[in-house]
Amino acid sequence: MLNKWQVAPQRVRLPFFLSKCMPFDIRIHLQSFRLGLFSMKIDAQNIIRGDQLAGARLIRLLEEGDPAGIEVLKRLYPHTGTAFVIGLTGPPGSGKSTLVNTIISEVRNRNMKIAVVAIDPSSPISGGALLGDRIRMRRHTEDDGVFIRSMATRGHLGGLSKTTRETVLVFDAMGYDVILIETVGVGQDEVEIAQFAHSTAVVSLPGMGDDIQAMKAGLLEIGDIFVVNKADIPGADDVAEQLRVMLGMSSRAQNDWLPPILKTVAVKNRGIIELVDAFWRHRQFLMNSGAFGEHNYKWEFKFFRRLVMEKAADRIFSEMQDSAAFLALCDDLKNRKMDPFSAAELITGGLEFKKQIR
Ligand code: GDP
Repeated sequence: MLNKWQVAPQRVRLPFFLSKCMPFDIRIHLQSFRLGLFSMKIDAQNIIRGDQLAGARLIRLLEEGDPAGIEVLKRLYPHTGTAFVIGLTGPPGSGKSTLVNTIISEVRNRNMKIAVVAIDPSSPISGGALLGDRIRMRRHTEDDGVFIRSMATRGHLGGLSKTTRETVLVFDAMGYDVILIETVGVGQDEVEIAQFAHSTAVVSLPGMGDDIQAMKAGLLEIGDIFVVNKADIPGADDVAEQLRVMLGMSSRAQNDWLPPILKTVAVKNRGIIELVDAFWRHRQFLMNSGAFGEHNYKWEFKFFRRLVMEKAADRIFSEMQDSAAFLALCDDLKNRKMDPFSAAELITGGLEFKKQIR
């Protein structure tokens, strides 16, 4: 009899010759070949010159996890570290995409180049929001000083910030002065993104009423600027007031940045100059206090730590995968004779175990 958790068996298998007869790295290369990625030669100089086609290709390679993309990124790295990274987050429908559009125009009015990463949490099935973003931002697509890239999280957890970070590095090397990351403020993503944005704006809208009270403490903490959009609708002042009270209650050191609360009407382009001014003021604040460089270092360290973890795990598993001791351990996990905590301890610290797998 089927129990209620049971689903139709579904297995994805590599063809036998791919899964068994070849070393892992050859399999990766074959996969790249199949995807046609070897034909994409990317010249780092073209990226530094700001060639958008080359930039888009490199980002694709990085998304595919192709090692060739990382090689290009290594060469680009000395040309990064100067872009001002802005995060914009808020609930769906608060007007983020409309705001992004107006911010793009204002940044261009100030003769600066801007790149946008629109993070789209849409499901692989709907894909609707992606298209929406593109349509809304279409008027900027002819402009060389603007590069818009949508990224779907599509239910993948964990991989988002890595690819976003790599994309930000590419944009930075391409010479974009401002890189704006737009996320929907519903999950963990926006908190993660805010960690590597220099300045994060949290967007809310009238009518949020009690929702403001319920606004996650995390969102309050990550906001460097609070935007109440749709200020043409009654209730904007109430939301701004509630935010003011809540921010007043949170503890800040005397020399800390005091987040401004700004009202905007994105559809009428109202309040946008003030918003961009606020970003610039925050950037200046970070520069003056030395926090700008410190911030960059913190991301790099986090990124570096994550890469080490991934590489170390890959190496340990590839060394052990065919050993009898490892297969026995997997059996114990499968039969629940061993818990994953002890298994991980054994593999990372157990000298006896290491001897067995040699
Ligand atoms: P997002 O989901 O946060 O990206 O929100 P959108 O930018 O797609 O905007 C959602 C809807 O709100 C659209 O119909 C916009 O035209 C509208 N909208 C955006 N900004 C404003 C505003 O300042 N006032 C009013 N009344 N509507 C706005």
